[in-house]
Amino acid sequence: MADVAIGVDVGGSAVRAVAVDRDSQIQGDTVYFPLQTRGRDEVLDCIVRAVRQAGEGHNVAAVGVGVPAFLRHERGVIEMSPNLPELTGWEIGKALREVIPQPLVLENDANAAAFGEALSGVWEGCDPFIYIAIGTGIGGGIVLNGQLLRGATGLAGEIGHLTVQPKGLKCGCGAEGCLETYASATGIVNAFLTATQDMPESDFVAKYGARNEVTALQLSELAGDGDTAAFQAFAQAGRALGVAIAQLCRIFDPAAIAFGGQVSGSWDLFWPTMWEEMVELIPVRLRENLMIQPATFAASAGAVGAAGLAWRSVQTA
Ligand SMILES: [Zn+2]
Repeated sequence: MADVAIGVDVGGSAVRAVAVDRDSQIQGDTVYFPLQTRGRDEVLDCIVRAVRQAGEGHNVAAVGVGVPAFLRHERGVIEMSPNLPELTGWEIGKALREVIPQPLVLENDANAAAFGEALSGVWEGCDPFIYIAIGTGIGGGIVLNGQLLRGATGLAGEIGHLTVQPKGLKCGCGAEGCLETYASATGIVNAFLTATQDMPESDFVAKYGARNEVTALQLSELAGDGDTAAFQAFAQAGRALGVAIAQLCRIFDPAAIAFGGQVSGSWDLFWPTMWEEMVELIPVRLRENLMIQPATFAASAGAVGAAGLAWRSVQTA
């Protein structure tokens, strides 16, 4: 029986889990449970079943759980979960400890994914390492001196909420002009809808379909086919990313920046303007050796990272 840590990634629509050995190698298959009600009972039940199934035939040393939420680590409480609103205010740490006997670590999902991606092997020796996940929103995480940077209150690394446009678009977090409002999948779709708002409705529908059904993936394909408005929406996202990354480079002088999340698949559409902005804002020295590219781990980074953090907690205890 191999010693493993189980890493669980709670997403907006599913819970996945993997067993990971001491050397960050995945043992066995990824376990996957889709969420239906997205309530606390269901999430708890899925986590417990995922831990059990992924741990079958192994000696489970610890469990790490990544959740899409702002966490109060010391109390194990979910302060806010924009994508799973029913979890807001939940003492998830207490609930899990009642049913999971092994040592338990809780982490924000993007932080866990950052740690997982850093463990993938591709980024060996890259420190500081920055991970940016561009999906419906934008998450991020920073690994510094081999450790996940949590900050004094656990809110470090919220890259999606860096200000890229003072007094800009209103963000879900309550602030204005956050990176997320310009460069997330939602931001890209909004930019496109704004740019095409004067188009007669019948022309719009004939070309793109219903306004409320436009997706970033669809725009990515259209932009690749030469659609100007779709192309511009990604170009704008790239510029916003460039501004944010230039600030990160000034503070951390990172060795590598990796991009995860569904929008990272549209890398060719946003990196030219992103890079242009970075060239304008930061000196050559900060960018000449910087590795900046899409992440490698894709969907399992969050679960692997949660397992990695769980291993850390029992090894340093
Ligand atoms: Zn924000």
